[in-house]
Amino acid sequence: MPSKPRNRVGEVYGQLLVVRASERRTKSGNAFWWCRCSCGREREVPSDKLSHNTARKKPVVMACLVCSRELQVEAVCAKNDREERRRRLESERIRAELKGTVPERWLSLPLTDAHARERGELLFFRGTRCLRNHLAPYRINGGCLACAGQMPSA
Ligand SMILES: [Zn+2]
Ligand SMILES: [Zn+2]
Repeated sequence: MPSKPRNRVGEVYGQLLVVRASERRTKSGNAFWWCRCSCGREREVPSDKLSHNTARKKPVVMACLVCSRELQVEAVCAKNDREERRRRLESERIRAELKGTVPERWLSLPLTDAHARERGELLFFRGTRCLRNHLAPYRINGGCLACAGQMPSA
């Protein structure tokens, strides 16, 4: 006999307020709860997904399906921003070391593909070598200039 679930009505999880019990049960006998999101939509959530412990491995539900998707998109954007910042810092560091060994002009090119797009330019120079070991600027979408036989003159 599964024990009677703890009454969660009135509890708040992220953007969700538990509003009433559901008749639905998970395969393992967990109760579902109807929750109202701060946007007004309702979502049925199994009790094992309602937790304040966001550090645990099991995903927790903090919003309705629509808002969850938006939160996910925001998280991906934030992660991409962090990675892009890291790429630019790395590029700056490598380029500083290459100073004097590559054409000066390369060192004023954008730092990364995304940086070039931001500046409306076609070339960027990260200071990294291509698979064929060229040290050369890259074209956005196009890869290594030396590979493409378009090595610019210094
Ligand atoms: Zn919502
Ligand atoms: Zn190459």
